[in-house]
Amino acid sequence: TPASGPTTDGPADPEHDSTAAYGLDRAYVSGLTRRVVSTTGETAAVASPIGRTPLAHVPQSSPADVAEAFARARRAQKSWAATSIDERAAALLRLHDLLLDRQDELIDLVVWESGKARKDAYLEVAHLALTARYYARTAHEHLDSVRVGGMFPVLTRAEVNRIPKGVVGIISPWNYPLSMALCDGMPALLAGNAVVSKPDAQTMLTALLAAQLLDEAGFPPELWQVVAGPGPEVGGAIVAHADYVCFTGSTATGRKIAQGCADRLIGCSLELGGKNPMLVLRDADVQRAAEGATRAVFSNAGQLCVSMERLFVADQVYDRFVDAFVSRTQAMTLGASHEWSVDMGSLISQAQLETVTAHVEDAVAKGAHVLTGGRHRPDLGPYVFEPTILEGVSADMECFGTETFGPVVSIYRFHSEDEAVDRANDGQYGLNASIWTRDAARGRAIARRIACGTVNVNEAYGATFGSLGAPMGGMRESGMGRRQGAEGILRYTESQSVATQRLMPIAPMFGMSEET
Ligand code: NAD
Repeated sequence: TPASGPTTDGPADPEHDSTAAYGLDRAYVSGLTRRVVSTTGETAAVASPIGRTPLAHVPQSSPADVAEAFARARRAQKSWAATSIDERAAALLRLHDLLLDRQDELIDLVVWESGKARKDAYLEVAHLALTARYYARTAHEHLDSVRVGGMFPVLTRAEVNRIPKGVVGIISPWNYPLSMALCDGMPALLAGNAVVSKPDAQTMLTALLAAQLLDEAGFPPELWQVVAGPGPEVGGAIVAHADYVCFTGSTATGRKIAQGCADRLIGCSLELGGKNPMLVLRDADVQRAAEGATRAVFSNAGQLCVSMERLFVADQVYDRFVDAFVSRTQAMTLGASHEWSVDMGSLISQAQLETVTAHVEDAVAKGAHVLTGGRHRPDLGPYVFEPTILEGVSADMECFGTETFGPVVSIYRFHSEDEAVDRANDGQYGLNASIWTRDAARGRAIARRIACGTVNVNEAYGATFGSLGAPMGGMRESGMGRRQGAEGILRYTESQSVATQRLMPIAPMFGMSEET
């Protein structure tokens, strides 16, 4: 069978076969691939940045298969929408428990498929479990019908219902394969929708294991359909059939999705890229800021939409901050393995390695200095790249304004707060920002001047991971729409206003009584 997509196949390679030592059962994982809607007879092998022997071959879907997946989902959605909110929330809580009970298996597969550090994979499980719990516990708050006062309340009873959109298409990337497979889908299901999911080709197996957990949690199997294949073809078919599209990925692809949705007059949310700024003010706790920067920049080897790629540091603390940040970075343990000891794992692919290498080489060729890192480390894994801090980056360099999506950060000195805010707001993105200061109120005041969807004071990702009630998403070219919080579930519903006239023998005087 022909292999397609960014995957490789090849003879078993015992030296790199990380499946042998961990709980990844080939027969079990192969069985998961039956969940893909496919009649093409074609498959694609899924390779690992750690263990190169493919674990399974994933059937590929055609546009006709995508149409069939939508037809099945549509049938299942009708009876699902008729279930009670409590019934749906109970299924979500069972999923929460399964995520925690099966975390080792999930983490093993995420690490194998993406090459990330085990700690980063654990955070995916934790984030999902918390999201499941948050939405299950707040379901009524978001979805119950609400009575509203009418102009003549004695005559009219008015209420607003939340009606599911129907079948939601979810197109997700590879960087957080478990989290991205489910975090947007859980509120969609809770609101009474079905889902057709198209995960990235590089991380299909994790997405299929996630679908298996949904089945085990008691969601009707037809309610969650999975299709596989190249983005433009299969992702394009999703846009052609969905009632709403939830897309996470690059700004370039997001723009195409929005155009497709506009043609069909359907809604979409777009969670796109960023070139996120971190501001270290003159009164910051320098050690804490340096520790935070290490996480903010190098978590998931920088392949994280909210990670910091631009650090602006006040003149007064610049040297102390740089010393602390560089020494913490140099103390990190790198690797491509299943061990908990790895602080920063591998990049996912050769393509990703090439982008990161190109950004660093371009910057160095044009005069930037490497304060630490800057090298590919094939001795540790085929796609391991050192955590890299660059100084002297200027506007003519690729990494100045373009998202690297890797473990590379540019560090700049600033002289006044106004200058720092202007530079943070420079460019087309507006996803996430971080401000470090001992004066938290001042930090919050500065946050309001920064054009980003999330801003964290004395943390890197607090607003996104710390509070699931807080919406998360981008301004400007970082996207539109929000995940998490009320907005993260209401986007999957239509509001429907129902006004009932009370039949009375004699019309009372206007304004006679209040809402009853
Ligand atoms: P990508 O846009 O190339 O791919 C994302 C998904 O879209 C994949 O499933 C892909 O197959 C599919 N796709 C590709 N072309 C398509 C098309 N023409 N029509 C429909 N679907 C198509 O993105 P990527 O490079 O894989 O992911 C990394 C990007 O995602 C980065 O820019 C990152 O910042 C962003 N991201 C954003 C968030 C967020 O919440 N804002 C989260 C994670 C990643």
